[in-house]
Amino acid sequence: MTATLTLDPCRIEGEFVRPCKMLTASIDRKRVELLVIADMNTFTHKRNMVVLKAGRWAKRGIVMNYCPFCGANIAEHVKARLAEEGREGREA
Ligand SMILES: [Zn+2]
Repeated sequence: MTATLTLDPCRIEGEFVRPCKMLTASIDRKRVELLVIADMNTFTHKRNMVVLKAGRWAKRGIVMNYCPFCGANIAEHVKARLAEEGREGREA
């Protein structure tokens, strides 16, 4: 792995990804989206994740595991939640 491009890498705070500057600059709501999961009963944000929408996954998108810029793991909180719910991250 080469030297990191940013001094402040992506990080996970609880259930939320805080993207680094380079990833933030890439979020365009078309191909790279910061998907927010909300609880409509309480109108609160529960978690977010960075989703890539391209090619075969242009509609539904796929959750990015790692930031392509800083290399940080940005899906650990999502995987933990899926394992907790017994889905192990497999697509239905
Ligand atoms: Zn990053």
